[in-house]
Amino acid sequence: MAWDIIISDIDNTVIDPSERLSPSGEFIPKLWMKDKPIPEIINPIRTLMKRGYKVVFLTGRNIKEAPYTLLSLIKCGVILPDELGDKAFLIHHRLKGILPNIEYKIKFVRKMIERGLNPILWIEDTFFYEKPSADKLRNFTKSAGITFIEIKSKKDYANVSKRLESLLLNLT
Ligand SMILES: [Mg+2]
Repeated sequence: MAWDIIISDIDNTVIDPSERLSPSGEFIPKLWMKDKPIPEIINPIRTLMKRGYKVVFLTGRNIKEAPYTLLSLIKCGVILPDELGDKAFLIHHRLKGILPNIEYKIKFVRKMIERGLNPILWIEDTFFYEKPSADKLRNFTKSAGITFIEIKSKKDYANVSKRLESLLLNLT
């Protein structure tokens, strides 16, 4: 249990960042106060954290955005300030666009497993993934024995929430 980990993406998974996109579609980190929570996903994650699971928020955002990410997660009620580094961990992309988002995430999770951590659940939206990337993620989680909770569109939140709630009943 101590090393059982929940992995969750951030954007469009626990946080809706759509209000801080510039008209040209660029992401403006300083507008973090415009972020909105996605309670359908946050609530089950909060329940898991209360039960002692540690949550790794694995985002494709660059490390430079880390302070804004943290403020946004706290503002949206995803985590409490004192949970960071204890129950919640925040992992940003540290490379300069060398690896596509999903490759970097899979590489990170592989390392977690090599080091004895046990990711049991991975929650991720695949809104903007090309099919090969989404397939890569589906295949990786399957081969690693990780339950993959995929959010394919905004319409999926309610169903995914139900799926998470039923999973919670089976987890201790
Ligand atoms: Mg996302």
